[in-house]
Amino acid sequence: MEAILIDAFEFSRQGESREGEFAVADLSRLAAEAVAPTGAIRWSLVGGRHAQGYPQLTLKVAGSVALMCQRCLTPFEFGFDVETVLVLAQDEAGADELEAALDDDELEVIAGSRQFNVADLVEDEALLALPVSPRHDVCPGASPQQAVEDSGKAPSPFGVLKDWKR
Ligand SMILES: [Zn+2]
Repeated sequence: MEAILIDAFEFSRQGESREGEFAVADLSRLAAEAVAPTGAIRWSLVGGRHAQGYPQLTLKVAGSVALMCQRCLTPFEFGFDVETVLVLAQDEAGADELEAALDDDELEVIAGSRQFNVADLVEDEALLALPVSPRHDVCPGASPQQAVEDSGKAPSPFGVLKDWKR
């Protein structure tokens, strides 16, 4: 796939914005997590400045990926729509320092680059948005009672007992 390269520092300084779409099939790491490489990931990137003056990028990533439900073992479309603020450091070592200095869970600190690959960034964020253990909200064929129990609203007595024993 054609890489989309930006100068991340200049992009932030100028307050530029850009958006696009990648096919899941073109994002090999993401496609490897999917049951089938279908669907697309839409993204937008906006340059700006952190309150303390550091260059930052606001990345929005939305789309859907076909995942295998770990409960009923049938595939389903997992949809997501996430926004992340990425503060840019000069390099990897600087990123670790800045991460500690800002101490803000709401944002990520990454090493910026003059040859920054947007596709990698979008793919990283999409991978982070995927659940560790993908499941339907309600599996097809599940009884309503089962769905309530699985959602954790009404824990089964056995589950409570197990927790208590721990
Ligand atoms: Zn399921």
